[in-house]
Amino acid sequence: LLGPSGQLSPTIFAEMSALASATGAINLGQGFPDEDGPADVLEAARRAIAEGANQYPPGRGIPDLRAAIAEHQQRFYGLTVDPEREICVTAGATEALAAAILAYCGPGDEIVVFEPYYDAYAALAGLSGAQLVPVPLRFPDFQPDEADIRAAVTDRTRLILVNTPHNPTGTVFGPETLAVILEAAERADALVVTDEVYEHLTFGSAHVPLSTLPGAAERVITISSAGKTFSTTGWKIGWVTASAGLLDPIVTVKQFLTYVNGAPFQPAIAAGLRLPDTFFEGAADALGEKRDILSAGLRAAGFAVSNPAGSYFVIADAAPLGVTDAADLCRRLPELVGVVGIPVSAFVSADHAGDYRSLIRFAFCKKRDVLTQASARLAQLG
Ligand code: PMP
Ligand code: GLN
Repeated sequence: LLGPSGQLSPTIFAEMSALASATGAINLGQGFPDEDGPADVLEAARRAIAEGANQYPPGRGIPDLRAAIAEHQQRFYGLTVDPEREICVTAGATEALAAAILAYCGPGDEIVVFEPYYDAYAALAGLSGAQLVPVPLRFPDFQPDEADIRAAVTDRTRLILVNTPHNPTGTVFGPETLAVILEAAERADALVVTDEVYEHLTFGSAHVPLSTLPGAAERVITISSAGKTFSTTGWKIGWVTASAGLLDPIVTVKQFLTYVNGAPFQPAIAAGLRLPDTFFEGAADALGEKRDILSAGLRAAGFAVSNPAGSYFVIADAAPLGVTDAADLCRRLPELVGVVGIPVSAFVSADHAGDYRSLIRFAFCKKRDVLTQASARLAQLG
């Protein structure tokens, strides 16, 4: 009776956040910051409400936000994007991903993803009827093997879904890897969808959008979101940029998912995207220091720890603590020491869960004293 939705289950984030509230544990599970973002952006939303931006905005987003997205692509990446024809504002990156996948994929198509992957990818592929084909990323550096990419992309591939900086591993794909992906897409005449929601949250290595590579314009669809950059994950303002020919079918689908969203948040995010470089640099530096605090805490507690170059997340291997089933440990961790993390097995296909079974994802987008306290609690595990 359920059709494709029968394959879906409650998200791991809802389950683990509920566990955190029920036990009062420190929630390093779901990735959301525990502090507000820039005051000017918050004030701009309040002002927009006061000034009456409370009805349906235009389908592709208000002109000022589309202009700000184009300016941002030019300022940070030297990309020229036409705000009229090549940008659509969406209800977070999630809606952009849904609209792109539903616009282009159907039964019989394959979507190549890098595994572990953000949980929505499998759900959306399932709703479209397409199959996921995973390319493995392995602890601790989580960089893909070029041969694996070439082997996964075939004539059946409809699109390659690239997420850099990557959730859950925090790995960042460099230009050589991106070139291999684009070449493989060209060979198979596949599209590439990039999920760049952590674009401004890198520590040392710069984020390279795949759309900056030569030849990308014909086949690359770029998705980002304001939630992570401005610590406004609840506002759900995202966007998709692509050539007009690639974007139009996505806009057509998007009309029937949410139609439009977030009228007063759109001008506020336009203001955010126009903040000076120092804001973006400062946010990444502050987050990098938080990564260091939690990584040191996890190491002191006896975990082996990845070295994420971006995102909100660090991966800890519990094997040195004698743990073989991290999903079981994550269920007991709130009671044991009062901390919540997410087992990496939640981000992989059932067939491959065994390869990741001792790994846990912890979010470090939290106040420093919260991270210090979580570290002290985790130290009791040893
Ligand atoms: N992609 C990735 C990789 C994410 O981590 C997230 C969640 N935070 C999203 C997409 C969804 O973004 P949004 O909240 O803007 O829909
Ligand atoms: N992206 C966030 C994470 O990976 C949470 C998103 C969600 O709850 N769906 O933790």
